[in-house]
Amino acid sequence: MDTLPSLFVSHGSPMLALEDGPARSFLVQLGQTLGRPRAVVVFSAHWEAPGPLVTAAPRPGTIHDFYGFPAALHAMRYPAPGDPVLAGEVARRLQGAGLPAGLDAARGLDHGAWVPLSLMFPKADVPVVQVSIDPGLGPAYHLRLGEAMRPLRSDGILVVGSGSATHNLRELHWGDPGAAPPDWVTDFAEWLSAAVEAGDADALLAWRETAPHALRNHPTDEHLLPLFCALGARTAGQAGRRLHTSHTYGALAMDVYAFD
Ligand code: ZN
Repeated sequence: MDTLPSLFVSHGSPMLALEDGPARSFLVQLGQTLGRPRAVVVFSAHWEAPGPLVTAAPRPGTIHDFYGFPAALHAMRYPAPGDPVLAGEVARRLQGAGLPAGLDAARGLDHGAWVPLSLMFPKADVPVVQVSIDPGLGPAYHLRLGEAMRPLRSDGILVVGSGSATHNLRELHWGDPGAAPPDWVTDFAEWLSAAVEAGDADALLAWRETAPHALRNHPTDEHLLPLFCALGARTAGQAGRRLHTSHTYGALAMDVYAFD
């Protein structure tokens, strides 16, 4: 079985599930290219919990953790099965890396997990295990989470970090998905791409201090931290690849990265 890359996916607005656009089309195509992994382990910006915690429900529910969106979005379900055995293995690997992981037998999948996965694996036949993030612990902690997942990649398991390359919701052009991105967004997104493709983990870890317009693009950290989970799962010394770049609502970069 081939070793799968780890991915960082920008999930944008929940409307990604309904609204056509370049990022949506790309994720559909990416899923077809990847084929059918044995399972997915996903880190989403929308589950913050100390631990880390690992979902262990055999049938995780679909969490609609957003407000003010169309009823059709609230009615969507993503019935991918869980994988309690894999959840146990994920927790053991995290514990082996010195991280006090626990299982959460009740938690479902939040929209950062199910929206992109519903595009990539629309049959909902790939089991999904989600792991919590903890923004208070910063990028180095999330790199360690990813490093503990690295061996799973050669076992047919797709490791995904789901966040957003840029994420300032106060500066979005709601109602205009096709709005042009401002310079402060493209400057940050291009810095990120250059650092990933140079394999410069040190620059990435220091992003808050060194990236252009870091605070304006990420008023809070949680949407960039899943990038470090994907980065941590890379094979040592490998640079990443930007697979896709586009923007939505002006200020949301929808970039997707792969790490081999
Ligand atoms: Zn989000």
